Amino acid sequence: MTRVTLVTGGMGGLGEAICIKMAKMGYSVATTYSPGNTKVAAWLADMKQKGYNFHAYACDVGDFDSAQACVDQITKEMGPVDVLVNNAGITRDMTFKKMDKTNWDAVIKTNLDSVFNMTKPVCDGMTDRGWGRVINISSVNGQKGAFGQTNYSAAKAGMHGFTKALALEVARKGVTVNTISPGYIGTQMVMAIPQEVLDSKIIPQIPMGRLGKPEEVAGLVGYLASDEAAFLTGANIAINGGQHMQ
Ligand code: NDP
Repeated sequence: MTRVTLVTGGMGGLGEAICIKMAKMGYSVATTYSPGNTKVAAWLADMKQKGYNFHAYACDVGDFDSAQACVDQITKEMGPVDVLVNNAGITRDMTFKKMDKTNWDAVIKTNLDSVFNMTKPVCDGMTDRGWGRVINISSVNGQKGAFGQTNYSAAKAGMHGFTKALALEVARKGVTVNTISPGYIGTQMVMAIPQEVLDSKIIPQIPMGRLGKPEEVAGLVGYLASDEAAFLTGANIAINGGQHMQ
């Protein structure tokens, strides 16, 4: 039977590349979009024209009930989720001095609570079936911290704590749990940074002298989702052009 992958935030820059990679590997692909997103039909049609038959479900990943309802619907319509890619995320950057509770909560909810909300309804099924993959998209800034990102760095670092703990709990059940920590990838999230900041502050920090490509991250997701990666769990894999080495 065809395995089912669920990619949260699959219509975003990284998410779309991940959806395409998983489809090329022969998985059925479901993605989530934020309730109220008006571009879904056009995106699905565009993908269909390119040869990808994706399924999209409205879900606020920061809301537990919404996540549960979304997974229930996917299970009913496509079958149980075998690979979960927790990719949806937001930034609300400001120095800690200016950081208010609203922007702290928004980032923690969308980037970290979401990992619990989405993994909870799929994990028992994976262990019962004896096969599963949970892949959490974190960030280099969760590893090294970043000016103006106390909220984002905390959420992304927390994601990896979750990865290590859950990896231990499900290791004997055929389920792997891993974190990918990308550096700066040329998606809308990064292109929203003013060009002069990119040129003067960010790219000079990257030994490869360029932003990463979404397809490069998607390739790593594809490997982690494969049978070949069965012995790899609890890892945090950096993919950042040499910007930060641990
Ligand atoms: P985008 O902004 O392009 O995409 C983010 C996606 O998250 C969108 O599809 C968005 O859906 C979805 N999303 C946001 N909030 C919610 C929500 N509450 N419920 C459901 N979906 C939601 O970002 P990227 O593709 O660049 O980033 C993807 C992931 O990679 C993020 O977790 C990010 O932190 C991480 N990352 C990105 C890096 C980069 O350089 N780009 C570097 C390191 C990590 P919608 O549009 O429908 O709201």
